[in-house]
Amino acid sequence: MFQKAICNFSKDNLLHNVKLIKKFAPDAKIMAIVKDNAYGHGVISVSKILEEHVDAFGLVLLNDAITLRNSGIRKPIVLIEGVYTPESLLIASLQEFSVVFHCKYQIDLLKKGKLPNPIHAWLKLNIGMGRLGFYPDDARIKLQFLEESPSVIETVGIISHLACASQPQHPLNRKQIDIFKNFIRDFKGQKSLCNSAGIFAFPDVHYDWIRPGIALYGCSPFSEYIIPSLNFKPVMTLQTEIIAIQKINRGEMIGYGGHFCCPEDMLIGIADIGYGDGYPCSKKSGMVLVNGVRCPVIAPVMMDTIIIDIRPCENVEIGDKVILWGEDLPIEEVALSNERIVYDLMVGVKNVYSRWQ
Ligand SMILES: *Cc1c(COP(=O)(O)O)cnc(C)c1O
Repeated sequence: MFQKAICNFSKDNLLHNVKLIKKFAPDAKIMAIVKDNAYGHGVISVSKILEEHVDAFGLVLLNDAITLRNSGIRKPIVLIEGVYTPESLLIASLQEFSVVFHCKYQIDLLKKGKLPNPIHAWLKLNIGMGRLGFYPDDARIKLQFLEESPSVIETVGIISHLACASQPQHPLNRKQIDIFKNFIRDFKGQKSLCNSAGIFAFPDVHYDWIRPGIALYGCSPFSEYIIPSLNFKPVMTLQTEIIAIQKINRGEMIGYGGHFCCPEDMLIGIADIGYGDGYPCSKKSGMVLVNGVRCPVIAPVMMDTIIIDIRPCENVEIGDKVILWGEDLPIEEVALSNERIVYDLMVGVKNVYSRWQ
């Protein structure tokens, strides 16, 4: 292998997480969210591992949906942001993908002629996030239209999204849940409201389908993450190697900009990963593990390399293992110290060799 940076993915941890979610929401069906290449984990690998444990897959790109079908995935696939052209709608119909309708433009696609296969439709209700979906009054009219359309299978689902589920105490949550409850009061079809945070924060509103994303990959969905309490296990571990060691004298400056002045004669280690591979580059920087020992990164992160203060660690050698995040170094902590969120760290990893174990 020519690359030093590797993403190790753990099948056991992925299965552990899905079982944890199931245990917590035993009565709901699981739509595993595998958008954005399964949050950077690989949409085909993740879906194959999960297929027998979940009830459907949710993703954004029609191409990904087709890729999953072509790789043998038979479970229902939901296009959670719907489609935008008559051709895409036709493909969704032929391939039997379920389609979310969140705006008038999408509904109008159905008026262009009857589809060969009626599709399974979800109507997106906007309960206050203001992103996608119809506000309740409008949604009633659109629901009736979908239910009567010859291109749509009789039962339409209602899907919605909480804006502040990652902060369970936020007053908007209950308000938005009430709007949802009101809307679906006499509705007999399938309902879905909760992402990962919603699943754990609001067990009373799991309804028919839950839609976990980040929790599957082993992250806390809550923004005040400090101490892992839900016992998820990280699926992704990003690691690389030390490729150079320098002995620097007290008072010398290190790295671009010369911001770090060595407080004593010391060793620094250079590791083969940088912002070009998706490692976060911010003014603040956090910790990595060198041979299992926490060591600070000396800012700024460079395109292909980072500089590590290896004083905490004895006898570091070229080729020694550096863990950027994953087991023993929670990605939540890396995100916090770099003022990023775990989602964008995960989907941002690139140029690295990946392997499932
Ligand atoms: C991304 C997404 C989810 C999953 O969210 P997590 O916070 O990762 O659990 C669920 N539903 C919809 C509509 C989404 O876009």
